[in-house]
Amino acid sequence: MGRKILTEHINVPGIETLDVYRKQGGYSAVEKALKTMTPEAVVEEVKKAGVRGRGGAGFPMGMKWSFLAKPEGVPRYLVCNADESEPGTFKDHYLMKNLPHLLIEGMIISSFALGANTSFIYVRGELMYVINILEKAIAEAKAAGLLGKNILGSGYDLELVVQPGGGAYICGEETALLESLEGKRGNPRNKPPFPAVKGLYQCPTVVNNVESIATTSWIVNNGGDAYAAIGIGRSTGTKLISASGHIKKPGVYEIELGVPVEEFIYSDEWCGGIREGHQLKALVAGGSSVPILPANLALKLANGEPRLMSYESLSEGGFQTGTMLGSGGFIVFDETSCIVRNTWNFARFYHHESCGQCSPCREGTGWMEKVLHRIEHGHGSMHDIDLLVDVAKKIEGNTICPLGDAAAWPVASAIRHFRDEFEWHITNPFEATQPGAVFRGD
Ligand code: NAD
Ligand code: SF4
Repeated sequence: MGRKILTEHINVPGIETLDVYRKQGGYSAVEKALKTMTPEAVVEEVKKAGVRGRGGAGFPMGMKWSFLAKPEGVPRYLVCNADESEPGTFKDHYLMKNLPHLLIEGMIISSFALGANTSFIYVRGELMYVINILEKAIAEAKAAGLLGKNILGSGYDLELVVQPGGGAYICGEETALLESLEGKRGNPRNKPPFPAVKGLYQCPTVVNNVESIATTSWIVNNGGDAYAAIGIGRSTGTKLISASGHIKKPGVYEIELGVPVEEFIYSDEWCGGIREGHQLKALVAGGSSVPILPANLALKLANGEPRLMSYESLSEGGFQTGTMLGSGGFIVFDETSCIVRNTWNFARFYHHESCGQCSPCREGTGWMEKVLHRIEHGHGSMHDIDLLVDVAKKIEGNTICPLGDAAAWPVASAIRHFRDEFEWHITNPFEATQPGAVFRGD
């Protein structure tokens, strides 16, 4: 299961430089695509690969590419979403700082496939040092004739622009990102129209995540069928997982999709197990925007079979007993974690990051934060639990962008699976508010 597609050469000293990257076979896929393939043939391979968007939504990348409108005389754009800000998610950061040329190579291939001559990498503004690494790598690629006019004598031109974001989580939402790229406040737009029809400057635009774009070199070199043969079912290929929390070995791991969750958490190849003397209590599998699962449901499906690291298996059971793979941000909690406190913490985050355009999100995230604060601080009532469920329900599905759902799901799922913990906080306010106090069951 230890298959590496993206990170095979990540530990080669100097791999961030063009010379070393090329010695490892880097940019061979650009040569192949630009000199021997048509743009349509590249799109076809990506479709065959079945690679699903790695930013979180899991939308098939080849399908998104084929939706790109192509009106005569109108420019098309590729925008790489490198505004990674999902709590518990740091895999794009890892990829860009260590393998900047892998992203640039993917940008060239993808831009060629889509017919874009100007493309953007919109990077989270806090990652200034990563922006410098990317700029340096772009300058190297340009000097080597891999960017700019007539790349490698193929007649294809591409300008690649790195744009720092301003530090708002909402600018990771693709339409808010486009607004920000246009120099406006990053407010999400209503969809449809999707960016594939009206995106940057109202022109057809594909917005893809860093990790998704990085897969294209391997797909061009090895073929879409070879990619689709890796992984499990419709969860093809490998996935970068950001693993954090109470595990022995936090970090970023590339896994073949289909590994059992239990193996991922306990194997020495990956997380190495829960820290000494503690047990798994809960798991957030896809960054904080997905439902939280208690240990038993995180490791096993309702029918007792192992839960796998795949889009389908993680969402098996719907939101009653399942969750989502999302961005692959694995946050692991042991029994010393207070679910009420963590839920309040997530709620604070979403309230702070809401752009305020739609009332259910603007008001609802504030309500949830306030109610969770009072439960956590010993002033809650039993009615507050139902109030939280009600507010979460009223946000879900009623907002312009997915931030509303992302704020509602952690709260609703925490109450669904850990209601006794919320009740304990309300019925034992003195005990629950002692430093380090955690509900340990009856
Ligand atoms: P979405 O399902 O609305 O869209 C997925 C992609 O498919 C988009 O690019 C969209 O334009 C495209 N698409 C969907 N239907 C289409 C159609 N009919 N025609 C053309 N294009 C179409 O989801 P989203 O809003 O892009 O993303 C939500 C996800 O983002 C959440 O699941 C969350 O996990 C994730 N997220 C990730 C981060 C991070 O830092 N990585 C941060 C916040 C949220
Ligand atoms: Fe803004 Fe929230 Fe509405 Fe998204 S759901 S547009 S973040 S108010």
